[in-house]
Amino acid sequence: MNAAVREGSVRETPSLVEFGRVPRVKIACIGGGPAGLYLGILVKRVAPEHDVVVYERNRPTDTFGFGVVFSDATLGHLAAADPETHVQITDRFARWDDIEVHIGGEVLRSTGHGFCGIERKALLQILQARANELGVRVEFEHEVKSLAADELRGADVIVACDGVASWVRDSLRDALQPNVDVRPNKFVWLGCTVPYNAFTFLFKQTPYGLFRVHAYRYHEQGSTFIVECPHETWRAAGLADADEDRTVAILEDIFAAELAGHRLIKNRSIWRNFPTVRCGKWHAGNVVLVGDAAHTAHFSIGSGTKLAMEDSIALRDELLANADVPAALAAYEKRRRPEVESLQAAAQASLEWFEGTERYLRMSPVQFTYSLMTRSLRVSHASMEKRDPDLARATVAALVDATADKPTSLPAPTQLPFVGGQHRVRSRFIAAPLAAWTSSADDLFVALGAAAADGAGIVATPPLRSEMLESDDAAVAWRRVIDYAHGKNALVAARVILPTERALERLVFAGFDLVVLDPDGDEKAIELLPAALASARAKIGDGWLGAVVDDRRTARSAVVGHAAQLVRAGANLLWVTSLGDGNARLPAAPLADRLRNELHVATCVEADDASLSDLDAAIAAGRADLVVVKRMPMQAAHRR
Ligand SMILES: Cc1cc2nc3c(=O)[nH]c(=O)nc-3n(C[C@H](O)[C@H](O)[C@H](O)COP(=O)(O)OP(=O)(O)OC[C@H]3O[C@@H](n4cnc5c(N)ncnc54)[C@H](O)[C@@H]3O)c2cc1C
Repeated sequence: MNAAVREGSVRETPSLVEFGRVPRVKIACIGGGPAGLYLGILVKRVAPEHDVVVYERNRPTDTFGFGVVFSDATLGHLAAADPETHVQITDRFARWDDIEVHIGGEVLRSTGHGFCGIERKALLQILQARANELGVRVEFEHEVKSLAADELRGADVIVACDGVASWVRDSLRDALQPNVDVRPNKFVWLGCTVPYNAFTFLFKQTPYGLFRVHAYRYHEQGSTFIVECPHETWRAAGLADADEDRTVAILEDIFAAELAGHRLIKNRSIWRNFPTVRCGKWHAGNVVLVGDAAHTAHFSIGSGTKLAMEDSIALRDELLANADVPAALAAYEKRRRPEVESLQAAAQASLEWFEGTERYLRMSPVQFTYSLMTRSLRVSHASMEKRDPDLARATVAALVDATADKPTSLPAPTQLPFVGGQHRVRSRFIAAPLAAWTSSADDLFVALGAAAADGAGIVATPPLRSEMLESDDAAVAWRRVIDYAHGKNALVAARVILPTERALERLVFAGFDLVVLDPDGDEKAIELLPAALASARAKIGDGWLGAVVDDRRTARSAVVGHAAQLVRAGANLLWVTSLGDGNARLPAAPLADRLRNELHVATCVEADDASLSDLDAAIAAGRADLVVVKRMPMQAAHRR
């Protein structure tokens, strides 16, 4: 029944395991963390005839880390999967609703967030006891060293739940295509004796740089205390050469005021860089990755344990529902991947926020807190208004204060006016209807005119080629669109692909309010963009000039460098686009945020399928100044 597995490779077609007909199926789990133990529990709970063994290299009481956070939503899944462990876990929970943010000498408290936390050791003890009760064989102090090891011989399914540094994943790299993105910030997982009564973020400016602390209670007398900082700050503070004791001493000194006499506690507290693990495939033959071995999500969204345990639920279901192992493993991956990737997208946005926190220090503490709360791009403005109406209101009120008028009631963030170049834009919407550059003058008139009538602050042409602008007829046609849009109180932007001098002259002559250079994804045009922008700037004087920047997450530094060149060449608006991978709600927002707050330039962000409330959050959080929509959202027109 078993598939013979050699080190580094798996037999192409493992033999079938038919759960209906085979009385006893052997499942071997490498790793006794939450994923492995929970899988054993779930299988034995409903199918006790199967044989599950969990190999764990450590002793039962050895564990790293302190508390782990769960979001409320997770509990429903766990309650249904195994009510017994659910009750025990929730009984041990520390719960809190508030988030406290210590920034620049101020403390802001935000309400309505709803978290719970449990000591990692307590969680593992609950799972170990339950596994034992159900007849899962857990072999502690047993390290599995190879897929060809004797103990795996005879296993129908080998579950690699060996954590973030999974050697199983690495030994099957050809089949699984792992990608480990090691992030630049340093972090260390500590505990402390402060019983924080809110999830607490400390942002502490020191002569070495900015430290961030993520602290939350996990039992009566103790809290997790994760310290994170950039590499340079870590070096400058003398932490690069520090052992655990020295780390504790240095950090106790830095956080003396915040700890107020309390101590930091170490437990295998080694400085690390967070690795985001992604895999092209989660299974090969009869070997399957589960939990951190397959994927990680940055600790700032506190979801790794949840993901690991939910993987186990799905794997158990699919193993019991499918007639053969490969089908079960494929079904498991198909079921879990969308949720995992969506959470990883949120975690990516969140970790980038913490990597670049320095750039938000210029914000007011209120907007800083709003930006922090919405950093994963999963919390919309409507959700913030529900969780913490005071914070949502205070953030928008501060934006209103920054603009010239003082409305009697607070508008939605996207309805706020914006000042760009010498222009005052009545709302934050740039409507760029889906029209081809080859559309007739009448078609463009209708598309842009309708968006202007629907309340867009700016209407934008499709990317135009110079020849569309150079004739007198074109100037007359565009004048008609511009006059109509101006009559509706909207401005008009021309998107042009590397314009000729004559085209630029005609644009100015026709009366466009904003010119945006748009290379339209063409690599050559992207390269030429800074030079084209500099000559456009010379031609249009102090007119409002923008440029399109396409995000590429894997080459982010190069993209930021390119954008900086554009700003130096005279761009005063960056129009940020991202192809995304369908997982993030506003995929261009992290780059728009970074460019706006690092280069101090106005940005607009392409909305894709984001909701109006996500767009409101992007404006309120200071990620972008304007949002680009293909069509004016109906609700926005109604809100006017
Ligand atoms: C700083 C920090 C804070 C975090 N905070 C949270 C949080 O608040 N909430 C949350 O949900 N998650 C959090 N996480 C993530 C969470 O710890 C992991 O996602 C979770 O532990 C994954 O479970 P797992 O079972 O996949 O892996 P692990 O918990 O890593 O377990 C893997 C196990 O495999 C064992 N093992 C490895 N190799 C072998 C081998 N060859 N043979 C036998 N055994 C082996 C290891 O000893 C280990 O016990 C945090 C992580 C970090 C780093």
